[in-house]
Amino acid sequence: MSTIFFTEKTCFVCGAVSRYPLINLSLSIVGPRDLDGRPSQIERASVYLWVQRCAGCGYCAPEISEGNRGDKEFIKNEFYTKQLYNTQFPETANSFLCHSLLMEKDDKLSDAGWGAVFGAWICDDNGFKDGAVLCRKKAVSFFKKAIKNGLSFAENRVQQQIYLIDLLRRSLEFDEALELCDKELEKENDHELIDYFNLERELILKKDTSCHDDTEIEELDY
Ligand SMILES: [Zn+2]
Repeated sequence: MSTIFFTEKTCFVCGAVSRYPLINLSLSIVGPRDLDGRPSQIERASVYLWVQRCAGCGYCAPEISEGNRGDKEFIKNEFYTKQLYNTQFPETANSFLCHSLLMEKDDKLSDAGWGAVFGAWICDDNGFKDGAVLCRKKAVSFFKKAIKNGLSFAENRVQQQIYLIDLLRRSLEFDEALELCDKELEKENDHELIDYFNLERELILKKDTSCHDDTEIEELDY
């Protein structure tokens, strides 16, 4: 059984005390994942609880009671406030994108990228098509900078490429996605991973921007 409960937390920035929902995932999560890593079943919906937003000052963080000194000044910036209330995105996507801005400030580019990916998932759920594309473009930009700085954003290099290709495909950057895909297919990646690239290649050629999951790998005939 997984349960949602509420707990009181004090905002790191302004000290406001509010109640935040938390989830207790007492079952280990199994099941298919989307090609961009989004889990299925209950974990899929729990993404809404992965970021907390202070109603008082607008600070957004996975743990609202924690932060660093720079955060207090940073969230007063006009661009932060604009993002917080940007009508191109649903509210929770804005919370994730604000969290991304805070992570970018601290050069945590992998976390900044994932914040944008999670924002895209919220946009997907709520029919914000253009917002989802914008989030994925931001994620690609953060992840590319992460690679440049020698940071990783997934368990290994090949998995990073799979995520990047999926983000590019879903943000309509078909040429770049295809180029990355073909480069990986020329390499001697192991069989299971090659199938990911084959599936992405097929979707890219069809100009398919929708969500697909890893169960479709098994249906491929190569
Ligand atoms: Zn606050």
